Amino acid sequence: MDYLEKITAFRKLLHANPEASEKEVVTRKLIKEFLEENTQNLEIVDKGRWLYGFHNEGADETYLFRADFDAILSEDGQCYHGCGHDGHTAILAGLAIKLDKEKLGRNIVYLFQHAEENAAGAIECTEIFKEKKIDYAFALHGHVGMPLGTAGIHEEVVCCASEGMLIHLKGIQSHASTPEKGINPAYLMAELALFLRPLCDFDGFVPMTWQGENYNNMIMATIVYQRLGELAFGVSPSTADMGLTLRAYNEKEMTLLQEKVENFIKEGAEKQGLEFSFTYLDIFPETRNNRDLVGRVKALWEKENLPFIEKHYPHRGSEDFGHLAKYVPSCYFELGLGIDSPPLHNVGFEFKDEVIADGLAFFEVIARKGV
Ligand SMILES: [Zn+2]
Ligand SMILES: [Zn+2]
Repeated sequence: MDYLEKITAFRKLLHANPEASEKEVVTRKLIKEFLEENTQNLEIVDKGRWLYGFHNEGADETYLFRADFDAILSEDGQCYHGCGHDGHTAILAGLAIKLDKEKLGRNIVYLFQHAEENAAGAIECTEIFKEKKIDYAFALHGHVGMPLGTAGIHEEVVCCASEGMLIHLKGIQSHASTPEKGINPAYLMAELALFLRPLCDFDGFVPMTWQGENYNNMIMATIVYQRLGELAFGVSPSTADMGLTLRAYNEKEMTLLQEKVENFIKEGAEKQGLEFSFTYLDIFPETRNNRDLVGRVKALWEKENLPFIEKHYPHRGSEDFGHLAKYVPSCYFELGLGIDSPPLHNVGFEFKDEVIADGLAFFEVIARKGV
């Protein structure tokens, strides 16, 4: 089996063993075994939930390359690699194997990260910055809608910040025939839905105004979940939960949006005599590239005749690589999976083995030539 066949077979093996975020036991074992079998010099460090390989030349400079390895659930609850993280991991393992016996003039950390989908992974992996002095971080993500094997690169914001906000409301239960004796949270829920209604329109990444406040760029709120009382026609209910996904081009405006929503609930709840609380989940920072580093990466790719497209608008979706990108200048890019394939998270999606060699080439030139 040649090198590329081996990496492709490994991608298929990961694909056949998908595990959801924070449940990646077999996946981690498979990565570790694959690296152990195919490298001689790599130091493999198992961190329990994630792992990394260290190509140690005792050099002054250290680059970090990251791949995520969790899978997602389909509509019918089946776990599958619907975001292509099997491909990312195969590419990174392939890089570690390829460079194992070489002198690059720099050290490399190959970071294999768990739990990207729920934003729990990268923040844990920031521990790496305490263990190693790292200069730059790199990552790629497969992307449908671009030619096969082409990179897409953003100068600054690649992915928006987002967070899940769960709002709990509690009033007073009463008989459905005497609703005036209770406090039903349904009305505040409805008011909140109308309050947020303008934030489910997307007019592009442009300045916007909402509730008398100017925002430099897009803010968005999506109602993802609502629960009120029970299906009991004799009861005017007392409890309600509402789940929102808040999203913003930049984190500062996310904070402002969050405050606005919190204040609206606070004022409404106090007026109506409801108790309230908030829980925040799946907190993704913005993923921001370093403009200077991106410039140097592009120059390098150009020189090596590697095909890339400059991207001018970020993704509305989020990526937890943003946590790592806060520590060192970083470059996160897309790898084209073709124009018409099923999109990410679609049940028909599967990573394209044809682009493994391309993904490797984009990383490899950075690792070899340096930026
Ligand atoms: Zn995903
Ligand atoms: Zn993904």
